[in-house]
Amino acid sequence: MTAQITPMMAQYLDLKAANPGTLLFYRMGDFYEMFFEDAIAAASALDIALTKRGKHDGRDIEMCGVPAHSAESYLLTLIRKGFRVAVCEQMEDPAEAKKRGSKSVVKRDVVRLVTPGTLTEDTLLEARRHNFLAAWTEIRGEGALAWADISTGEIRVAPCPAVRLGPELARLGPREVLVVDGAGAELAEIVEDSGAALTPIARSAFDSSGAEARLKALYKVGDLAAFGTFGRAELGALGAVVSYLEITQRGRLPLLRAPLRESGAQTMQIDAATRRNLELVRGPDGRRDGSLLATIDRTLTAPGARLLERRISAPSRTVATIAARLDAVSWLCEDTGRAEKLRGALGKVPDMDRALSRLALDRGGPRDLAAIRAGLTQGEALSPRLEDAPELLKEQAGALRGHGELIDLLDAALVAEPPLLARDGGMIAPGYDADLDEARTLRDEGRGVIAGMQAEYAEATGIASLKIKHNNVLGYFIETTAAHAERLRAGPEANRFIHRQTTASAVRFTTTELSELETRILNAGGRALETEKRIFETLRKAVIDAAPAIGTAARALAEIDVAAALADLARGENWCRPRVDDSRAFDIADGRHPVVERALKRSGESFVANDCDLTAEDGATIRLLTGPNMAGKSTWLRQNALIALLAQAGSYVPALSAHIGLVSSLFSRVGAADDLARGRSTFMVEMVETAAILNQADERALVILDEIGRGTATYDGLSIAWATLEHLHEVNGCRALFATHYHELTALASKLPGLRNATVAVKEWEGEVIFLHEVRDGAADRSYGVQVGRLAGLPASVVARASEVLERLEAGDREAGHKPGAMIDDLPLFSAAPPRPAPAPRPEASPLLEKIAGISPDNLSPREALDLVYELRALA
Ligand code: ADP
Repeated sequence: MTAQITPMMAQYLDLKAANPGTLLFYRMGDFYEMFFEDAIAAASALDIALTKRGKHDGRDIEMCGVPAHSAESYLLTLIRKGFRVAVCEQMEDPAEAKKRGSKSVVKRDVVRLVTPGTLTEDTLLEARRHNFLAAWTEIRGEGALAWADISTGEIRVAPCPAVRLGPELARLGPREVLVVDGAGAELAEIVEDSGAALTPIARSAFDSSGAEARLKALYKVGDLAAFGTFGRAELGALGAVVSYLEITQRGRLPLLRAPLRESGAQTMQIDAATRRNLELVRGPDGRRDGSLLATIDRTLTAPGARLLERRISAPSRTVATIAARLDAVSWLCEDTGRAEKLRGALGKVPDMDRALSRLALDRGGPRDLAAIRAGLTQGEALSPRLEDAPELLKEQAGALRGHGELIDLLDAALVAEPPLLARDGGMIAPGYDADLDEARTLRDEGRGVIAGMQAEYAEATGIASLKIKHNNVLGYFIETTAAHAERLRAGPEANRFIHRQTTASAVRFTTTELSELETRILNAGGRALETEKRIFETLRKAVIDAAPAIGTAARALAEIDVAAALADLARGENWCRPRVDDSRAFDIADGRHPVVERALKRSGESFVANDCDLTAEDGATIRLLTGPNMAGKSTWLRQNALIALLAQAGSYVPALSAHIGLVSSLFSRVGAADDLARGRSTFMVEMVETAAILNQADERALVILDEIGRGTATYDGLSIAWATLEHLHEVNGCRALFATHYHELTALASKLPGLRNATVAVKEWEGEVIFLHEVRDGAADRSYGVQVGRLAGLPASVVARASEVLERLEAGDREAGHKPGAMIDDLPLFSAAPPRPAPAPRPEASPLLEKIAGISPDNLSPREALDLVYELRALA
């Protein structure tokens, strides 16, 4: 005999089947309940109690639940742990269901799928970061990536061949990426490497003609031409985003702005490894702290912070755009008062974008309306301050004007500090709606209104002792003594008073007015709430109708915020305005590394500023930097890359002066980064990354290579570094900074006219090495490894022995033909002491170098590069 399924369980199982791959939050009264496997998974993920409820198919039904009023925090934990949640609500009052019969179940339906890329609640979002949902597809060899932030309404698309997907995801940092179901492991790996959740969806969602129809319907246009021309793959990717939103939002589409088409040509190309390396928006531990962004971010609004992140992630490549942004910063730098006043107003600007998006999805509350009011009000107030501003800011000022009507409406209608939820009312201001005022007065001051009526009747009838009373049988009634009753029955007011009851001591009456008042008092609470909700709805509608203008104002405020924040930074940290032009200049005087400088400042130390001139008259665009460990090589390399990046993002830069000829792409690599997690040898990674640079860097690129070749045996490493340097010089022709501990490479400067040596100065004092952190022309004479080892706390005996070994090795070096191996025999005691790198073979004598000279890296695949490395190693 099969067990009976209760109607409720049948409903649950239907909903569950219709929403595969999700945890079902099943609303029961004040709780969301989960059953079966969902309950087991959620109880463990949320660390809440797992209980049982009844039986299904002969086994206990596992159950757990979370209170509906605090569901958001549980949702956040579940999303962070990689779950998707289907939120199922009761679609009717349980009383309605009862009316249909005792067996009847409350109607329920899934109203929304909560996924990492489709969040809108403030508690689920990071205020200062975008929350992008992306979709990638390839149609007939043409790839495209689309992305949207439904919490701000932004949607964009860009051509993106498969090889560019990794870098693009690294730039955008989406939370969730949609790909065609069954797209393959390689694609999945790229997405997962970016840290985003991978969501495969049906191929049909990416279909370009379906997408076109979907987009036309969404934007209510007959032709998409108004938004630009899109390729098939671009349409497919946009369509997939929209289709997924339809699915997850259950038909309630968020407000999406017109789709913008981005092309890579407008921004500086930066790949994922470079972003990680330079710690642009994420610090060393993957959090925002310690990143360039965290160090320079002085924005006062969340949309401003998000815009600044976009700027830093995608600096411009257009001289005019950069100049316009710098003009804005300069204007604000010129006059402290000007900037301070703007920032005073900006400090009061809330996140209008996200408020607007919640209102559009009908998830918004009174505080979202208040946010729109505050944002528009501050915007109107600060726009006159921008009258004589440079073009970029003046444009923004324009977008901030003309919202008077909406502001007045919201001002009149909303209380100063409305509650979070519309549910309990209390958001509409007194004096806005006569009906509401009356309902509230009745609700709050019922007795007072009755007393007023009593006084009025007493005066009208001349019976001072007339009373209005209340009991459960009659409700409200007018009472007078028998002696006065006649005056009510027969007096001039007789037609008003209706007799209800006569008791031993009194006669009771009512009036139409009083019984109406009574009903109104009884209903007043409910009516007040209903009226408030109705008004809220009208206000919401008014805001949605003005959404495009509000969105433009929000973006304008973000733009002003970023300019003012950069000006504040520039003044506070003594940065200078860079000169950015079409030349190939790269001349930085007294440059600093903003993040290292900040860290040093905290511990009371000061940063030593350094020049970097790759515009030298002799045409030397490559600098080879040698110097001991800890001298400041990496810092110098990175600071120059960051200065170029900041300049093109439209910021002032940490230097005395800077002249940057546009950088089209930026590459930064560090030798031997550990990547064990992915099971690739660190050296292989280093080679793959180096190959990518040698294959891609053109004469507008800026390349930074830090200790390339470090990940392998000395000769291999030296050879590869050597060949790489030659290739950069001969083929790529880019501007490059190359730090190495292979002192042998400095000899190349005499052969390659575009290469110059530089070194970070150190001083030796009583056997100790003192780091001066000064970058000078010339090559380092020694590496001071032993002294650095001492600083690091190597036992004194080891330091002494190492010095001894080093001395012997160096002496051996001077004797031609003396091999280090032979020397080791002379040093039997500490034979494991680290050998000093052996001298490089003379280039002309080595088959190895001949082999290297014959390499044409442009034509090598990573696989061939690795094979080559093995061949080279065999030759060594
Ligand atoms: P290297 O790459 O030569 O090993 P780093 O660039 O990592 O050296 O610098 C080591 C440390 O030296 C940094 O963490 C910083 O504290 C300090 N340092 C580097 N450059 C400077 C500088 N220009 N001024 C002051 N301190 C510096």
